[in-house]
Amino acid sequence: MIEASLERGMVAVANAGSSSLKFSLYEVAGDELRLVLRGLAEGLDTSPHFVAKAPDGLVLREHTWGEGQKLGHDAALHHTIAAVRELVPGATLRGVGHRVVHGGPDYSQPMVVTPEDMPKLEALSPLAPLHQPNNLAPIRLAFEALPGIPQVACFDTAFHRSTSELAQMYAIPWHFFEEGVRRYGFHGLSYEYIASRLPQVAPELARGKVIAMHLGNGASLCAMEGGRSVASTMGFSALEGLPMGTRSGAIDPGVLLYLMQQRGMSAKEVERMLYRDSGLLGISGVSSDMRALLASDAPRAALAIDLYVYRIAREVGSLAAALGGLDGVVFTAGIGEHSAQVRERVLRALAWMGFELDAAANASGGPRISTAASRCSAWTVPTDEELMIARHTVRALGG
Ligand code: ADP
Repeated sequence: MIEASLERGMVAVANAGSSSLKFSLYEVAGDELRLVLRGLAEGLDTSPHFVAKAPDGLVLREHTWGEGQKLGHDAALHHTIAAVRELVPGATLRGVGHRVVHGGPDYSQPMVVTPEDMPKLEALSPLAPLHQPNNLAPIRLAFEALPGIPQVACFDTAFHRSTSELAQMYAIPWHFFEEGVRRYGFHGLSYEYIASRLPQVAPELARGKVIAMHLGNGASLCAMEGGRSVASTMGFSALEGLPMGTRSGAIDPGVLLYLMQQRGMSAKEVERMLYRDSGLLGISGVSSDMRALLASDAPRAALAIDLYVYRIAREVGSLAAALGGLDGVVFTAGIGEHSAQVRERVLRALAWMGFELDAAANASGGPRISTAASRCSAWTVPTDEELMIARHTVRALGG
């Protein structure tokens, strides 16, 4: 059981994927949010597993269902609510914040969602068919399971709504832009968190021209000026830009025409290839996981890392041009926060721009990993998308 000042109330955060539900619970204490617990229900379609942990990682509750037993999002949400109620009895839940991948052209802020709003959010599903329906399912379920508790949608695209029309355009017939075929950019909650941290970590850089690098299973770069998004490597979908764990990143559209017209691949097969069989996994043939590749002797494991670093360095050049200069870079997410080797290789590839690595600081995790003499500075800043969602939720509820 968790001790908490119950009268202060709590906000919960939900992040639903295709076969998982991540959740966390925060206590609202004035302007502060204190993490109370976090956890996930995963393998919902294959071998469901539920775990809830204290902030220090201590396992508070764990349950594994039998192989082949499906749980489904509905049951996963009910199980989570019941477990949290038992672990934090009597807690006053003020609201739930949900990560929603797509806010389309219109949503530039989090919003309190009512059942009447759902059709507008569901209408955006064709823009992100693999993610949006999963993100929206728990909101719909929560209207019934948590009656009277406000549900807040926090969009991964919202932070990039500050980008110019030019930065959002593709050079295809104009009516497609008006229909919503534009560059949206993703990982917005992560970049917004980084923008909120920079004034404390690197105050001078926070006012300047920055490229933040979210390098996790998904990967993108965001050009920011004065804490606002100016451009992103991701576009209409979360496929564009850098190679990722299993996603291709940017690819000549002519390749897709070739695959469909000459090789007879269906749209579904191409989709599978681009989302699941490409990126680090596709090149290496070994793994999508950077740790596994760094430890592997397989010849194409090294090649996959070479390509990853090369593409990051090229995209930094492109975004620096969009910014009209560059003051520094920030590494974040799994690879960005934890792989000194990848950070070193990226910064060496960017030496010509004025980056000078501080090897000792990089090895110990920074936060500043460039030397004092380096013309451009480089930093590692851990991201926290859940905390960003919790903050938005409190704000949206008028807290
Ligand atoms: P997600 O995008 O799913 O949230 P993460 O941000 O946790 O994923 O990033 C996962 C990636 O981070 C994986 O490729 C993993 O290998 C990599 N990673 C985590 N720790 C390390 C490490 N110490 N060294 C290298 N890569 C790491």
